[in-house]
Amino acid sequence: MTSTVDSFAELGLSESLLKTLSEIGYETPSPIQAQCIPVLLDGRDMIGMAQTGTGKTAAFALPLMETIDIKVAKPQALILTPTRELAIQVAEALQSYAKNLPGFHVLPIYGGQSYTIQLKQLSRGAHVIVGTPGRVMDHLERKTLNLDHLKTLVLDEADEMLRMGFIDDVEWILERTPEQHQTALFSATMPEQIRRVAQKYLVDPKEIKIKSATATVAAIRQVYWQVSGLHKLDALTRILEVEEDFDAAIIFVRTKTATVELADKLNARGYAAAALNGDLNQQMRERVIEQLKSGALDIVIATDVAARGIDVPRVSHVINYDIPYDTEAYVHRIGRTGRAGRNGNAILFVAPREIRMLRTIERATRQPIAPLTLPSRADVTNKRVADFKTKVAEVLDAEGLDFFANIVSQLCEEKDVSAEEVAAALAKMAQEGKPLEVAGEDPQPRPFREERSEHRPASFGDRERKPRFEDRGERSERPRFEDRPERPRREDRPARPAPAGDMVRYRIDVGREHGVEVRDIVGAIANEAGIESRFIGRIGLYEESSTVELPAGMPAEAANALKRTRIRGVPINLRQDEGRPSGSFGGERKFDGERKFKKKPFADR
Ligand code: ADP
Ligand code: MG
Repeated sequence: MTSTVDSFAELGLSESLLKTLSEIGYETPSPIQAQCIPVLLDGRDMIGMAQTGTGKTAAFALPLMETIDIKVAKPQALILTPTRELAIQVAEALQSYAKNLPGFHVLPIYGGQSYTIQLKQLSRGAHVIVGTPGRVMDHLERKTLNLDHLKTLVLDEADEMLRMGFIDDVEWILERTPEQHQTALFSATMPEQIRRVAQKYLVDPKEIKIKSATATVAAIRQVYWQVSGLHKLDALTRILEVEEDFDAAIIFVRTKTATVELADKLNARGYAAAALNGDLNQQMRERVIEQLKSGALDIVIATDVAARGIDVPRVSHVINYDIPYDTEAYVHRIGRTGRAGRNGNAILFVAPREIRMLRTIERATRQPIAPLTLPSRADVTNKRVADFKTKVAEVLDAEGLDFFANIVSQLCEEKDVSAEEVAAALAKMAQEGKPLEVAGEDPQPRPFREERSEHRPASFGDRERKPRFEDRGERSERPRFEDRPERPRREDRPARPAPAGDMVRYRIDVGREHGVEVRDIVGAIANEAGIESRFIGRIGLYEESSTVELPAGMPAEAANALKRTRIRGVPINLRQDEGRPSGSFGGERKFDGERKFKKKPFADR
C-alpha cells in the first residue's frame, strides 16, 4: 500500500476511538485515511481526491468525532451526500465508530422520508447530520435545522452531487453556514465547477490525492466478477468448485472480523480454511502458513498486512473478495500466486460502485482484467456429477467388489427391481449431505437499488458530456442517458433499452425555462421516491413543464413525496399525464411495480 503508516495509533486519534477501530476489525489505515486524518485533526480545510471504496468515510468521520461535544445536543457536523443510500451508509458508519461514545447521535435526513419523523428526530437533538442537499436545504429554509454550532462540514462525493444536479443546492447551503468551521471536500474527480466551489468556500485547503503508481504484475490470469444478483459467499463457493487447476487460495478481505467470519463459513461448507490476521502472533501465523504449504489447509483468508510476503508455491488462486484500496495493494495481493513458475489466477470481486477502481487497476498495471462469467447452477452440478462419476469409476477399477455385488443381486431379487435402480439408491445415499444438484437460483438482474452508482459516468471532465454507462456490465437492460431525449422525441426513433413492465407518464411543472436539465429530474426523483434511476423511463423536457415515465404501481408514500418535491426551488407538482405513455413496455415480463420502490425508510428499521 502507498500508506507508510501501519497503525491508526500513529495518526493521533484518541484511545477510545482506537479501541473501537480494533473492535470493529480495522487493522491499518487506508492510504487516504493515513493522509487525511492528521490534517483534519489539525483543524485544516482539505480536498481529498480518491475513488470509491478507498475508505473516505472513516477518513473524515474519525477526526470529526474527536471534535464532538456530547453534552451539546446540537448539530456540530453536517455531511452532505448525493443520495439517500449514501446518507444512510455514512450515518451507519458513524454510528459504528461511536461504539464507545455513549449518547452520540447521528441523524440521516433525506428526501422521501416523512417530515414528521425527521422533525421529531431533529428536535431530539443530533450531533451529526448526514443528508442529501435538497432535504437539508428544506430544513434550513424551514428553520428546523440550525447550524449555529457547526464545527465541521463535509461534502462527500462532490462530483456526484454535481452530476446529479445538486451543486446549486450545495452552494446555497455553503452560503448559509457559519463562518467558523472546518470544511472537507471529497471527490473522485475534480471538474471545474467543483474546483470553483472549493476555491470559493474552503480556506487554504490541503490537497490530498491518492495516486496510483504504475506497476508490473506477474503473467497471471486476471478476471473480475461484478457483484450482482448473488451473495459474494455463494459466488465464491461456486467459483471455488468449478475453477480449473484449483490447488490452494488466499482470499483477501478488509477487516480482521471478516477473515474470521469467512473462514467459519467456508469451514461450515466443507473447506479446509483458516483466518490470517494481525491478531495472530508470529507463531500462530507461521503455523497457518505451514498448514497451507503442507496441504492441511487449502484456503487462507487474510488481511493485506497479515499476508505480506507469503510465499507458498501451491497457491493457485488469489481472490480479492473485498477490493483493495489501491493498485499497490492489488499488485502485492496477486503476487501471492503464480509463484515458482507455476500458473496463477487472480479473481477480483467488484461492486458496481467500485468499477472505477477496477479501471484504475487496469490502467496502472497496463493489463486488461476480463469479466468472469459466474458458473451457473448447471455448471456446478455438472462438475459435481463429473467428479462423482470419476470416483465411482475408481472404485469400479479397484478389487473387492464381489461381496457387494452379491448384496445388490439379493436386493434385486427381493425387491423385484433392476440393478440400475439399486445403484441409483446407493448413489443417493452416497451423496447425502453433499448434494450433487445445486439449490437456489442463478443471478437475475434485480429491480432494487443496492448500490448507488446506477449511472456513474466513466469520467467527468466535461460538463457538456452526458453521463454514460460505459463502465457498466449489464448495459442492455438499462435506459441509457445519452438516449434520453433532450427535446421531446418523435416516436419514430428505434426503440432504446427501456425498463421492462408497465410505465405511467407523469407531468411535472418544471422545464427548460427553470433551467432544469434531465439529470436534475432523474436525481430528484431517484432520491425522493427511492426509485432506481434505471427504472425511470423517458423524460421529455419542454419549456414550462416536463414529462417523465415511471413504473406503474407507485406506492402512495412515494407519490406523496414526489408531489412535494422541488427541483431548482420550483415545486414539481407531479401528476399523471393524460393519454398513454409514449410507449408502454408490456412484454412478457410482468413487473410488480411495488417492488421497484423502496418501502422502508431508515427510521422504521
Ligand atoms: P469510500 O467512501 O471511499 O467509497 P468507504 O468509506 O465506504 O469508502 O469504505 C469502504 C469499505 O472499507 C467499508 O466497508 C469500510 O468499512 C471499509 N474500511 C474503511 N477503512 C477501513 C480500514 N482501515 N480497515 C478495514 N476496512 C476499512
Ligand atoms: Mg464514500
